[in-house]
Amino acid sequence: MKRTAMIGHLSPTHAGQTVTLQGWVNRRRDLGGLIFLELRDRSGLIQVQVEPNSPAFAQADRLRAEYVAEIEGAYQLRPENQRKGLAADYEVIALRVKVLNTAKTPAFELEKGAEVAEDIRLKYRYLDLRRPEMQRALMLRSRATAAVTAFLDAEGFVAVETPMLTKSTPEGARDFLVPSRLNPGEFYALPQSPQLFKQLLMIAGFDRYYQLARCFRDEDLRADRQPDFTQLDMEMSFVDQEDVLELQERLLSHVFKTVLDVDLPLPFSRLSYHDAIDRYGSDKPDLRFGMEFMDVTDLFSGGEFAAFADAGAVKVLVAPELTRKQIDELERVAKQNGARGLAWARRNGDGFTGGISKFLTQQTAALLEQTGVQDGGTLLFAAGEWKRAATALGAVRLSLRDLFALASAGPQFHVSWVTDFPQLEYDEDRASWTYMHHPFTAPHPDDAGLFGTGRQSEIRAQAYDLVLNGFEIGGGSIRIHDPAVQQQMFAAIGLTPEEARRQFGFFLDALESGTPPHGGIAWGFDRLVMVMAGATSIREVIAFPKNNRGADLMALAPSPVSAAQLTELGLDLLQD
Ligand code: ASP
Repeated sequence: MKRTAMIGHLSPTHAGQTVTLQGWVNRRRDLGGLIFLELRDRSGLIQVQVEPNSPAFAQADRLRAEYVAEIEGAYQLRPENQRKGLAADYEVIALRVKVLNTAKTPAFELEKGAEVAEDIRLKYRYLDLRRPEMQRALMLRSRATAAVTAFLDAEGFVAVETPMLTKSTPEGARDFLVPSRLNPGEFYALPQSPQLFKQLLMIAGFDRYYQLARCFRDEDLRADRQPDFTQLDMEMSFVDQEDVLELQERLLSHVFKTVLDVDLPLPFSRLSYHDAIDRYGSDKPDLRFGMEFMDVTDLFSGGEFAAFADAGAVKVLVAPELTRKQIDELERVAKQNGARGLAWARRNGDGFTGGISKFLTQQTAALLEQTGVQDGGTLLFAAGEWKRAATALGAVRLSLRDLFALASAGPQFHVSWVTDFPQLEYDEDRASWTYMHHPFTAPHPDDAGLFGTGRQSEIRAQAYDLVLNGFEIGGGSIRIHDPAVQQQMFAAIGLTPEEARRQFGFFLDALESGTPPHGGIAWGFDRLVMVMAGATSIREVIAFPKNNRGADLMALAPSPVSAAQLTELGLDLLQD
């Protein structure tokens, strides 16, 4: 017997008909001789009633949670006093039940899945994935993939796959290495991104490329990171920054409209990197709410309060009334994020009390006016080197968001561009300049003359990040297409011509073979889907993720390998 409908596709037009359904037993209850089953498939859930004198009863009586069953029965309205919601108003009165398969008692109750420890959910991921939340998330993801593909195909993008076993592509993380059996002592790197390959595709004349690409980065894990993850990777020829941003805005709006029926306001707002740090203390600011910083450096400069007098920057934000405990907690956050402390003062009438209030006498009037803090409200200050102070206060701003649910008063989704990133940043640990985006990003044409001068830090990159609700969901740039500029960039980050040739010789040769101006972007697809699904971890939108120690708890990877395998690869393990 074939099923006649998926459960969720049944509608009042089926009323009175005999239907055949197939799925899993979500729950079984016995009541006054009757058996009540809930049958589940990926589209929905329905109640099935089996009467004691029904020919279906003996089979139904065998059913337990998570058994696989086929049920034929009459689809009908439930008695009036039992109707609640639309879908649940109907039930099936079983005429025939067939047990298609039995199941061991599940390791956890699926309905309580969300309360089960994540390690258990990941160990039995095939059960966890049966839960409606997980099914919804992966189906949403599938719809987002379909929307992206349809849009890019219509815009003339060509889908191309690039290799997984390849050479290192620098994106600022460590490589995952794969030993080569056929070339003992040599290793492939798994791609951190398809960056060089997509640029080669532009050199090859494909004009527009996209790929849902698996990328691999060996770095410390967080809720929004996985060692292997998916990028929506795109590249376009003969474009400038505006062309890329314009197409991206249409693409993202299309995805939101198709998948969630949400209209994103166009064009997206834009913020320079400098302003993002200066006003919100983050290069991926959550703009669903305000709480912008104010700059009070000048107010304290050269004054009596030593901690602020010679600080590079003094930033302040206006918080609601806070308890001592809350302030202590916020101070801990500020310190964790690089500040030496978090200064505070509470408005009390026409003055301030608590915290550093006794040092504010000269500034009281100006602070009241500039910040507009209400009576009882708290001023929170961070002082120090500009970026360090702002970033620490940025973390405090996000804690306040969580503490007072500030984001829920704003739009559900807020998208913005962050632009004008610096081309280079100074790496204190390595005592050298390094790239901010990646070494193939083009400098702003007006700044290209600054390479190799004392003003390298002023070079702006033609780079842009796409930010959604405080998450960086995409990043890209216009690329260097002039081989001489590429050499200057390599030199700026301390690569000698020999090293550059050793690492990227093939790419430098290609650059000299007729490279069109080009640029692109990659989306962190898992992160985007996470935000769209309202999830708080990308593991909730990845079918088989690793846990936060990089382990696959179901398949048990990573795992030791046999001595024979190591020998074959020409490898030996160091003993501890
Ligand atoms: N390859 C870059 C990244 O992974 C994205 C891009 O520049 O297109 O961040």
